Amino acid sequence: MPSHDFKSPRLHVDADLAAAEAVPATPVQANYLLNVLRLAEGDSILAFNGRDGEWRCELRKPAKKKLDLLPVERVRLQTPAPDLLYLFAPLKHARLDYMVQKAVEMGAGTLQPVMTQHVQTSRINIDRMRANAIEAAEQCGILSIPECREPVGFAQFLAGWDTARRLVFCDEREDAESPIDTLRAMPASPLALLVGPEGGFSEDERATLRALPFVTVMSLGPRILRADTAAVAALAVLQASVGDWRQG
Ligand code: SAH
Repeated sequence: MPSHDFKSPRLHVDADLAAAEAVPATPVQANYLLNVLRLAEGDSILAFNGRDGEWRCELRKPAKKKLDLLPVERVRLQTPAPDLLYLFAPLKHARLDYMVQKAVEMGAGTLQPVMTQHVQTSRINIDRMRANAIEAAEQCGILSIPECREPVGFAQFLAGWDTARRLVFCDEREDAESPIDTLRAMPASPLALLVGPEGGFSEDERATLRALPFVTVMSLGPRILRADTAAVAALAVLQASVGDWRQG
C-alpha cells in the first residue's frame, strides 16, 4: 500500500500552495469540511493543485463565514501526471460519470471523448466530467487532475494521431487471445486505450482501426462487456501487465 497518508481528507484547490500562504476554501469545500466531516479550526487536511505537490493544511476561521486552508507542511513532492491517454465513446449520464471516475482511479492521465458512429449521446458536459475527475483524484490519492478534453470526431482523432503512441483498441469481436499476452507482446511506447460505445464500433470504424500500424487490437474475453465494465477491465489488465501496477 502507498506509504503516504491516504486517510486524511484530501481537497483539490486551484490556488498556489506554499507554506503559510492561506488558501480560502470554496463554500462547497467549507460546507464539506465543517458540516459533513465536522472538522474544526486547527484540524488538518491534505490539499493539492497539480503543481506544488501535496500539503498538510490546518483549518483556520479568520471570520465567522470564512474558512481558510493554511499550508503547514509539504508531505509529497509533485509528480508528473500519468501519460496514459484514455479514449472513449461517451455514455449516458450516470454511466459516463462512473466511467470517468474509474478511468481516473485506474491511472488515465488524459480523458478524450471520441464521437463514433453509434455513440449514444451527442453532448458532453465537460464541467461535469472535470468535477468527476476531481472527485476521483481527491479520493484515490493522485496529485494532479487528468486533463478532460473536448470531444473529437472519429476521423479527426485518427487524423491528428501521434504515431509514436500505440493505440490499444478494445474490439469485442477479436479472438480471445489473453489481453495480457497481447499487451506484453507490444513494443514499449507511450500508450492510449480506446473503448467503444454501448452500440459498439461500426464495421467501417473497426476496419479502419484494425488496418492502422500503430493499433494493437485487444480482446477482453469471450463475453460482451458493457462499455463502463470494459473500461475498468481494460485499464486493469493494461496497468497490471505493462502499466504502473507493477512495482519497481
Ligand atoms: N457491440 C456490442 C456492444 C459493445 S460493448 C453490442 O452491440 O452489443 C462496448 C465496448 O466495450 C466495445 O466497443 C469494446 O470497446 C468494449 N468491449 C466490450 N466487450 C469486449 C470484449 N469482450 N473484448 C474487447 N472489447 C470489449
